[in-house]
Amino acid sequence: DSGREPVVIIGTGLAGYNLAREFRKQDQTTPLVLITADDGTFYSKPLLSASLAHGKTPQQLASASAEDMAKELSAEILVHTHVNDVDSETRTLTLVPENGSHQATLRYGKLVFATGAGCRPLPPIEGDGLARLLRVNSLSDYHRFRTALANRRRVLLIGAGLIGCEFANDLIQAGYEVDLVDPLAWPLATLLPEAVGRDLEKVLCEAGVRFHGQHKVTTLQNVDGGITAELDNGETLQADIALAALGLQPNTGLAEAAGLAVSRGIAVNRSLQSSDPNIYALGDCAEVDGHLLYFVAPLMQCARALAKTLSGNETPVRYDVMPVAVKTTLRPTTVCPPRPDSEGEWHVQAGSGGVSAEFRGPDGRLLGFALTGDAIAQRDKLSGECQPLMT
Ligand code: FAD
Repeated sequence: DSGREPVVIIGTGLAGYNLAREFRKQDQTTPLVLITADDGTFYSKPLLSASLAHGKTPQQLASASAEDMAKELSAEILVHTHVNDVDSETRTLTLVPENGSHQATLRYGKLVFATGAGCRPLPPIEGDGLARLLRVNSLSDYHRFRTALANRRRVLLIGAGLIGCEFANDLIQAGYEVDLVDPLAWPLATLLPEAVGRDLEKVLCEAGVRFHGQHKVTTLQNVDGGITAELDNGETLQADIALAALGLQPNTGLAEAAGLAVSRGIAVNRSLQSSDPNIYALGDCAEVDGHLLYFVAPLMQCARALAKTLSGNETPVRYDVMPVAVKTTLRPTTVCPPRPDSEGEWHVQAGSGGVSAEFRGPDGRLLGFALTGDAIAQRDKLSGECQPLMT
């Protein structure tokens, strides 16, 4: 009887924990198990790139321990435990505890992948400084970064996407020196049209950030306890530590090995169901009806819908308009990117206090927008007019 077998969630990030919370609102009795390779601390990942300026330590970012979460959720939480095999025929997981004790198996009724996304592989960079290049995609990474930052002053940031720009904003306000290097011409170039990206660049640079657009780091060398970076134009930069923010890729290896359909992420329909009817996915690991989004708003919508589906009331998710607030507090920025395949063009209005850009299709319909500074006051009006991501 699969009804008595637990709902098992792999992952205790925002996707896993929010799903568990929503599920318990619907169903207080079905056994619930969460498994995580990390220590299961509940924290808000977006705060990792906005905590220095507020003087928050990594410890202060932990809002609940795994033990507290297990009590709150009436769930069993297996921490420091890696799931390394899923047998979908027998609905059995193979678990490997981090401490090397014997592996175990666990049967599930329904299984949910909330395995997140990992850092994309680095582009080729030469030199012995590579081993000291940090990346931040979890609370323990952030702890490592903050420890490395102690008594240091100069930070080299590689990558001026959302996370790189937020770290630049945070570090410069906390009194660090920041060099920000990106192969594209302006910050957030994959999300923002040039006029909006340049506006953000200007404000970050006025605050002291040194932006090196259209350049790549080719070499990182350890020098006197610090790092020397060489760019592709021969320029060299001196830093104490280096942090790469070069994008993410969904953690799909386990799903692939289990024989699930995987596209860019684990392929699921609008009911968050994978190619196996007993297995679901949400969060950074999931490609939902063709949409791969690494943001909190879509995973919250998925958590609410999937909780209902798992408790017997099948509920498809419908993504509406989900603008992303970029936490560059020096120049608040909001972006609602058009779908990558959208036809249309940006219409830009620039003022001294901010820039507004609307992406309109050939028929004039609003398909996306980007706003900085005082223009972000238009966010709700434009959200109301914009086409939803899913119809
Ligand atoms: P994760 O948090 O990555 O969780 C994955 C979980 O899976 C972990 O518990 C891990 O241990 C577990 N796991 C994986 N594989 C296994 C396995 N085989 N066995 C056991 N456990 C496993 N989004 C916004 O909307 N706004 C923002 O301002 C914003 N800022 C951000 C700033 C930073 C610095 C970063 C890194 C991200 C930011 N994001 C932001 C993105 C947002 O934080 C993510 O979309 C979200 O946290 C993803 O949650 P998740 O639960 O899907 O994945």
